[in-house]
Amino acid sequence: MPLPGEPIAAIATPVGVGALAVVRISGDGVHGIADRIFRKPDGNAGTLAGSAGYTAHFGRLYDGPQLIDEVIALVFRAPHSFTAEDMVEFTCHGGPVVVQQVLKLLLDSGCRLAEPGEFTRRAFLNGRIDLLQAEAIGEMIHARSESAWRTAVSQMKGDLSEKLDGLRESLLRSCALLELELDFGEEDVEFQSREELALQVEELQGEVGRLVDSYQHGRIASEGVATVIAGRPNAGKSTLLNTLLGQERAIVSHMPGTTRDYIEECFIHDRTMFRLTDTAGLREAGGEIEHEGIRRSRMKMAEADLMLYLFDISSGNLDEEIDDIRRIHTEHPCARFIAVANKTDRAASAEMAIGRVHHESGAEVIGISALEGKGIDTLKQRMGELVRDLDKLHEASVLVTSLRHYEALRNAADALRNARELIDHHADTELVAFELRSALDYVGEITGRVVNEEILNTIFSRFCIGK
Ligand code: GDP
Repeated sequence: MPLPGEPIAAIATPVGVGALAVVRISGDGVHGIADRIFRKPDGNAGTLAGSAGYTAHFGRLYDGPQLIDEVIALVFRAPHSFTAEDMVEFTCHGGPVVVQQVLKLLLDSGCRLAEPGEFTRRAFLNGRIDLLQAEAIGEMIHARSESAWRTAVSQMKGDLSEKLDGLRESLLRSCALLELELDFGEEDVEFQSREELALQVEELQGEVGRLVDSYQHGRIASEGVATVIAGRPNAGKSTLLNTLLGQERAIVSHMPGTTRDYIEECFIHDRTMFRLTDTAGLREAGGEIEHEGIRRSRMKMAEADLMLYLFDISSGNLDEEIDDIRRIHTEHPCARFIAVANKTDRAASAEMAIGRVHHESGAEVIGISALEGKGIDTLKQRMGELVRDLDKLHEASVLVTSLRHYEALRNAADALRNARELIDHHADTELVAFELRSALDYVGEITGRVVNEEILNTIFSRFCIGK
């Protein structure tokens, strides 16, 4: 049953000049509110409250005698609307002042300004969509690449929800049987043999494990390949970042250690999105701010899918660079790694030096001149090739893309592992039931069956007002 909702209003389209804009209202009595300000072309008061759902009405909005704009009013009747409440969407002219006037009129007529994500939150609370689908809408709006959009669409369609509902069903069945046994107390009954239960838990572990593993692909599809550009100060990291992005982003300067923090920007090459981080120079000395920058850079390096270690091939410090490359490469075994020899324009025999670095460090080395843009195409091509297998999203049907879901699934996996161990050790039914229950709760947290106000606030506050 839809919950009764206070009438809310918000502009649903972006701020700025456009042909049209949409201002929407939702909640109890919004048709009546709309009728107070809407008049049909013949000047008569509107009868939106009496009209059927999904009907469009041309007319004018008035603030008393003052004409505000000509609009189309689209009427939705509960529960057949986005929020499952009564709604009206006014399509007005798309000037920022016009839109503000329409919104003000609605606020003066009995609506209050919606909070960020409140329309979607109501859709969720009224059971129109589950939490995953609500989040997918947010992800779709913010998608910056085709793969991000594609995974959001799949999630909105309910692919992941369906999978998780299946998991929940199996967990519920196992829990129910165990709890029934507990109800029988003293009598030593088993409604399901422990071997059978162990098998079921193992199967669930497999399914949850596959979802957990899909996160790397999912995260890459929705956020891009986490790519870190590391290297000593003055190696040319900011210059390379700018060259890759094709625009001036980081401040390029001659002072060592000026990139104090890290900067993140995305670019798309051959349909793969790379999320680039330029780290603060890995210099041990320096002030407090620099230290904080270094700490964060280390964190970013630890999370990288791809690492570009940039060094100045013209510096004459090749031995030290080779040591650094070896060390960084071994410290980050998970990341794909390219040693990038920069400033080839200034090095006398760049080719030979590159060959030596490759030979002695064992790393793949690509020579570039970030300043002149030489070797950048080869670098991009190799970056694409190295991560191709990570970006194979079309092959995995259901992907976990959000950190929240990933963490809940990891917790569910831990609980299942505990349950499995307890069963193997013939532990008390109560303990096994407890672990299965918590696995169930973690899975339920993802789709919103187990509702936690804090989670809801975090999710919906990321939406814009009007969504
Ligand atoms: P970062 O400290 O690693 O971010 O280095 P920057 O990008 O700030 O570059 C340091 C200096 O090296 C600047 O003066 C750049 O203009 C210069 N530089 C960067 N790349 C190249 C290059 O390929 N060739 C030459 N000759 N100079 C470069």
